[in-house]
Amino acid sequence: MEEIVDRQHQFFEQGKSRDPKFRINKLLRLKSLLQEHEEEIFAALQKDFCKPPLETYGTELLILYKEIDHLVKNLYSWSKPKKVRSSLLNFPSKSYIYPQPFGVSLVIGAWNYPIQLSLNPVLGSMVAGNCTIIKPSELAPNTSALLEEIINTHFDSGYLHVVQGDADTTQALLDEPLDYIFFTGSTRVGKIIMKAAAEQLTPVTLELGGKSPAIVDYAADLELAAKRISWGKFINAGQTCVSPDYVYVHESQLDTFCSLIKQNITEFYGSDPAESPDFARIINRDHFQRLKQMIDPNKVVSGGSTDADNLYISPTVMTQISWDDPVMQEEIFGPILPVLTYQDLDQAISKIKEQPKPLSLYLFSPDKSTQQQIIDNIPFGGGCINDTLVHLSNPDLPFGGIGHSGFGNYHGKSSFDLFTHQKSIMKRSSWIKNPFRYPPYEGNLKWL
Ligand code: NAD
Repeated sequence: MEEIVDRQHQFFEQGKSRDPKFRINKLLRLKSLLQEHEEEIFAALQKDFCKPPLETYGTELLILYKEIDHLVKNLYSWSKPKKVRSSLLNFPSKSYIYPQPFGVSLVIGAWNYPIQLSLNPVLGSMVAGNCTIIKPSELAPNTSALLEEIINTHFDSGYLHVVQGDADTTQALLDEPLDYIFFTGSTRVGKIIMKAAAEQLTPVTLELGGKSPAIVDYAADLELAAKRISWGKFINAGQTCVSPDYVYVHESQLDTFCSLIKQNITEFYGSDPAESPDFARIINRDHFQRLKQMIDPNKVVSGGSTDADNLYISPTVMTQISWDDPVMQEEIFGPILPVLTYQDLDQAISKIKEQPKPLSLYLFSPDKSTQQQIIDNIPFGGGCINDTLVHLSNPDLPFGGIGHSGFGNYHGKSSFDLFTHQKSIMKRSSWIKNPFRYPPYEGNLKWL
């Protein structure tokens, strides 16, 4: 690890990674490498957890391609030093902000979108002019191995380098001198990373998870809400950090809503989702067991079947849920949808506010004042009105959590800003010399 980190510091010191032309070339090179390896990427993700190629394209590659285009288009204007006003106190002077890279970044990825979540922060590190070490998750081994092959074969290891490994590998990297740490993963591990970063006072971004609610207002278009919630919940078999973890619906609409969800599951995945090529599997046995224990057969209104040999859990809907149920004790991160009810929307709002601040929230309501009420009164990272997940596909929207779901925003300009140190410089001239600032001060106060 020492050698890898040291090599990156040496590369950074050469100054190449700061050259805007170099940054653009490398971003475009990465895009074309991903394009050339699309078929292998599809295959690796299918091996890791049967992720359907269309989902891989839409939720991993397309997001990266669009992000690269956006960064390349704006890189020059973002990187230019910016002149700001100088105060009369310092007359004559000029003041500038120089956006500068930190140096060597470490990006630690999660397994659930193993290409996108490993590389999207890397794009931010690259566009800002840093060198980057990438530690993808060991839980998606085929994808991590492919990522290592693509990156380590085509880039100077002083600039971009993939290190495969588990917690011990990450710990070893964290012991080295780093200039920025970007972590995506669980809140539990996020705390470990932050402690390690504190040892060396390394700036850190934590992109964590949590229980993201969906709220369906009484006046909402129920069909639309059910369709978009079903899509957001069951894509990637529910293993999505911004997936709607649970839903709140008006008690009088529970049955209708649940049958609509059921109908959508059949439309999306057929009468037996186990046979569908469009429904992913659970990443490993531990997660499978964890999820299985959350399913209470007495509360299942749709799905509920499991197959340990194939790590399959069917799209499952549960009702009659209380906050004491196992399924409400932690982020689900799987294809299980608990549907809770409210009589009055304020009840749902106050219950959500008692929980740790979620990464996302989705409201289905045509009513502008209800929309504003939710936006103003519930703290959460980001979200959608009348949809799920899609907010993260807009590079102009900063993406990140709050409280237990993390801190620091990325995507688009936010990624550039995150990986950039704003160096403030005041340039003075010497033709007016202020004698009053120097001691002895006696009698000087009246001039200031
Ligand atoms: P995880 O925290 O188990 O692992 C994430 C990374 O940390 C992996 O690379 C892993 O090797 C490393 N790691 C694990 N234990 C470690 C330790 N003790 N010390 C140092 N490094 C360690 O998370 P995961 O299972 O890969 O991902 C699921 C979680 O991530 C969910 O909570 C999900 O909501 C969250 N997530 C958040 C986002 C986001 O953008 N906010 C995106 C995806 C996933």
